[in-house]
Amino acid sequence: MSTAPSAAQVVIIGGGIIGCSTAYHLARAGFKDIVLLERAKLTSGSTWHAAGLVGQLRTSANVTQLLKYSVELYEKLEQETGQATGWKRNGGLRLACNQERLTEIKRQATTAHSFGLEMHLLSAVEAKALWPIMDSSDVVGAAFLPTDGQANPSDIAQALAKGARMHGVKIVEDCPVIGIQLNNGRVTGVATSHGAIQTEIVVNCAGQWARQIGRFAGVNVPLVSVQHQYIVTETIAGIPRNLPTLRDPDRLIYFKEEVGGLVMGGYEPDPIPWAEQGIPEGFEFQLLGENWDHFEQHMTQALARVPALESAGIKQLINGPESFTPDGNFILGEAPEVSGFYVGAGFNAFGIASAGGAGRALAEWIAAGEPPMDLWPVDIRRFGRHHRSEDWVRTRTLEAYGKHYTMAWPFEEYRSARPLRVSPLYQRLKDQGACFGEKLGWERPNWFAPPGVEAKDAYTYGRQNWFACVGAEHQACRERVALFDQTSFAKFLLIGRDAERALQWICANDVGKPPGSLTYTQMLNARGGIECDLTVARLSQNEFYIVTGTGFASHDFAWIRRNIPPDCGDTTLVDVTSAYCVLALMGPRARDMLASATHADLTNAAFPFGTWREIDLAGAPVRALRVTYVGELGWELHIPVECALAIYERLMEAGRQHGIVNAGYRAIESLRLEKGYRAWGADIGPDYTPFEAGLGWAVKLAKGLPFLGRDALLAQRSQPLRKRLACFTVDDPGVVLLGRETIYRNGERVGWLSSAGWGYTVGKNIGFGYVRNADGVDDAMLASGSYELEVATERVSCRLHLGALHDPRMERVKA
Ligand SMILES: Cc1cc2nc3c(=O)[nH]c(=O)nc-3n(C[C@H](O)[C@H](O)[C@H](O)COP(=O)(O)OP(=O)(O)OC[C@H]3O[C@@H](n4cnc5c(N)ncnc54)[C@H](O)[C@@H]3O)c2cc1C
Repeated sequence: MSTAPSAAQVVIIGGGIIGCSTAYHLARAGFKDIVLLERAKLTSGSTWHAAGLVGQLRTSANVTQLLKYSVELYEKLEQETGQATGWKRNGGLRLACNQERLTEIKRQATTAHSFGLEMHLLSAVEAKALWPIMDSSDVVGAAFLPTDGQANPSDIAQALAKGARMHGVKIVEDCPVIGIQLNNGRVTGVATSHGAIQTEIVVNCAGQWARQIGRFAGVNVPLVSVQHQYIVTETIAGIPRNLPTLRDPDRLIYFKEEVGGLVMGGYEPDPIPWAEQGIPEGFEFQLLGENWDHFEQHMTQALARVPALESAGIKQLINGPESFTPDGNFILGEAPEVSGFYVGAGFNAFGIASAGGAGRALAEWIAAGEPPMDLWPVDIRRFGRHHRSEDWVRTRTLEAYGKHYTMAWPFEEYRSARPLRVSPLYQRLKDQGACFGEKLGWERPNWFAPPGVEAKDAYTYGRQNWFACVGAEHQACRERVALFDQTSFAKFLLIGRDAERALQWICANDVGKPPGSLTYTQMLNARGGIECDLTVARLSQNEFYIVTGTGFASHDFAWIRRNIPPDCGDTTLVDVTSAYCVLALMGPRARDMLASATHADLTNAAFPFGTWREIDLAGAPVRALRVTYVGELGWELHIPVECALAIYERLMEAGRQHGIVNAGYRAIESLRLEKGYRAWGADIGPDYTPFEAGLGWAVKLAKGLPFLGRDALLAQRSQPLRKRLACFTVDDPGVVLLGRETIYRNGERVGWLSSAGWGYTVGKNIGFGYVRNADGVDDAMLASGSYELEVATERVSCRLHLGALHDPRMERVKA
């Protein structure tokens, strides 16, 4: 057995499948002096008792690519290392037992096609031919992913460990980490029960212990342990060795072949948490007690699906704890709190499937100091301060666990752990019919139910019950004026003598304008990819007010703080989100109505587009920003929270004669799609540059000022673009676009929709998506194609547009 060295380039904590994969990939990437520390023995945490299903399809293209890579790796790992892995590419079957589920799997098949995965729709008869032992009498259809498979989890982990050793990694077992050493917000070492190891990079792959390891460094890793059970049967006649894995989501269960018998488990709506008071000392290679009473719900469903289970012997009921997270996705990347502290944990019972790709992504992240691609759905910076509450995390995580196989409805909202963060207007808006959604703990009005309509979403894959109500809000904004409560926006102050210099370096647009200016800008990574998309208001010589999306609070704060150049010492970044309520007043009558409530001069000459002014409103000082995300004349009013209610009442009173309405986020989405405003995390992100996204006009290249990402943009400018964002419309209102639909140009797959919805003014389905072509994409190429979208496996014709669909000249907005 190896002993721990006193220094290392990288220290990985945890010898489960994720730690082993990270070690393997770091070593292959050329890192030297890598040490993996395991508290007990390799695989002794969750890995050894996993069921071993390896599925690939996720809702994010890049996360799907990671899982696809896992499969490619597992296929060759045994040959490379000489260690058996039990890998079998037997395919994955997914059943649908009702029409809505059939629509869901059709949409999943289209998502798979968008992301380059083969997935076929099957009839019940064809599904039965692949899975002969099932009763298929209630099956209405199925989808089959031929490249899915299964593996022996411990063996895969051991093969990765062997491969890592072969490339020089030192693996030290029986060596618990007991502390993390820090200096000035950076990792400097790791304390173990056998002594300290100096290092600048720590990777926390400690599974359900990762939260505790994070605490050693002041890093939040929001995951909790939940019990997960499955049975292993004796041999059952008629089970071929190449039986595909089977997911039967309507019955909440899954199956896999094992030594001629079956493994069967499921995701119950009432999961049981584990280790609420902390994981017991010495918990290694252990299982929890069998809980047959709790498992009965799965057994009942499984017996109906596979009648042969009635007489099959049960070898074992495995009850293993695993770490789950509040949104069902794993946690990857460098912690925003501490430089050099990376996390790869919280794998929600798909860690075996994810390990290959997640380990590689972590290794590349460490090597480059930034994610190798847009990994936002799993990025550790997606969490907020409320995720530090273990109670909140547990409550929401249990709900997420219970939803693992339930219908993933479009626009579905979580119900648990709400409300938490509310605007001062919450109750007032609720009383007026607001139906709230939740983002990063904030309650936000999605739409308003008029009298007589219940303020509750009714989910379906067709048009949902709020469709007409949102249409009325949209129309009010286009024709009169609407008020949106956008208090949940994240808001930062950057203050100091060096603030301008720092921001000019971090922002792609020119923010070095006089106080009173307002600048829409991106912040780019070194590849020119869009890391942040936000607005900067210059308050004074040394003060900038930064406004960004609700969900990006931690990410954007960390991005700005990390990228302040070392020679800009006199800068302080402060999160002031909780200090301001934001009411956006938008629509052609916004000026007239606001003018009746304030003495401020709102004329275009005094208060042009792209500026901010302090105005008095109902006796309160309000920071009014002349900006829009809906494409109408309007102001974002940033109001001290204690004045919010008084100002709201004053605005509603002033707006009455102008036909003002309350409006919500679903109307914003429809309005912004018509105007072609991009949404970060969907249409734009780290994988897309401003040129590709059609945002080159917001980049200060011509000014000759240095900024982060400039070199990459200069290089890109001299070459043809390989992808370009374009707008697509489908006239047929019977088609519902939701995003991820495949784009075909002249019959060839060229991309997928990054966001989509209905435009009420133009009366069309609208989708945005990148058209990709290795030889270049320019206007002529875009305009010359004939386009189709694949929607739930059906091709529909569509039209491509290069400009915004509504009011492209912005005259009304900027007048
Ligand atoms: C019943 C069950 C069935 C499952 N089925 C599947 C499946 O079919 N497919 C699938 O993809 N996934 C499945 N999973 C999930 C899968 O097992 C996990 O996602 C995966 O094993 C997580 O690996 P890990 O490396 O993150 O964690 P772990 O395997 O738990 O590894 C973490 C390691 O960190 C070590 N450690 C902790 N604290 C310290 C410390 N202080 N110092 C040093 N080391 C420390 C632990 O000892 C442990 O070995 C299942 C899980 C369960 C419970």
